[in-house]
Amino acid sequence: MPEGHVIHRLAREHQAALADEALAVSSPQGRARAAADELDGMTLLAVDAVGKHLFYRSVGATLHVHLGLFGRFRSYRSDPPPPRPTTRLRFQGGGVTIDLLGPTDCRIVDPGGEDEIRDRLGPDPLRADGEVEEFVRRLARRRIPIGAALLDQSVLAGVGNIFRAEALFVTTIDPLRPAGSLRLEETTALWKTIRSMMRRGVRLGRIITREPAELGARSRSSIRSANALYVYKRQSCVRCRGPIASAKIGGRSLYWCPGCQS
Ligand SMILES: [Zn+2]
Repeated sequence: MPEGHVIHRLAREHQAALADEALAVSSPQGRARAAADELDGMTLLAVDAVGKHLFYRSVGATLHVHLGLFGRFRSYRSDPPPPRPTTRLRFQGGGVTIDLLGPTDCRIVDPGGEDEIRDRLGPDPLRADGEVEEFVRRLARRRIPIGAALLDQSVLAGVGNIFRAEALFVTTIDPLRPAGSLRLEETTALWKTIRSMMRRGVRLGRIITREPAELGARSRSSIRSANALYVYKRQSCVRCRGPIASAKIGGRSLYWCPGCQS
């Protein structure tokens, strides 16, 4: 599943490409025909990302999209290919075609429906309205391991499996500690680390958590994927050379260094 930085990048790209354009919207697959009929011919005002959720806003109608595990977008600047049998929605406007395939959710929501979705989400570190105080408040109540809590979208919105492992390593927090046992300065450091890693992800379009200087690299773009991360899917620790541990925590494989994170 894409992490929040991918969703925020999509929101920016789609807003830049389609906003202020009268859109032609269709559902070649037919499964989102009601949404397509409602949006067709409307002018798109804005695209908003909240955690892993996207909201496409036009006058009087908002489309909610959640990609889930298998959903994806395809964009075409010129002559798009014919839609596939699985194309849920096709947006066209301003010389751009954007296809949405296989999302978990794709429907028109009214303000109440949007509130319902957003009320279930913790603060999003990539949004201006994401507040560390809210993160602290939501963590304080949890007895589950911090490694699991970071994947819980009602604690923190947008964080996925790679960012949680990398941020816990950088802040040297043992992922097995109960979430509610973290001190305020640890929680604050975790928030700041996640936010800066994710902002970098939005900027670069890929996840690089290690510093170029640490790798002797001239720039972030010259960092190879194998060197981009501290602990995720690694065998040995880049700092202490000790073995990296891994276990299913919060339903996904988490990687950490028991030597550095204690
Ligand atoms: Zn280590």
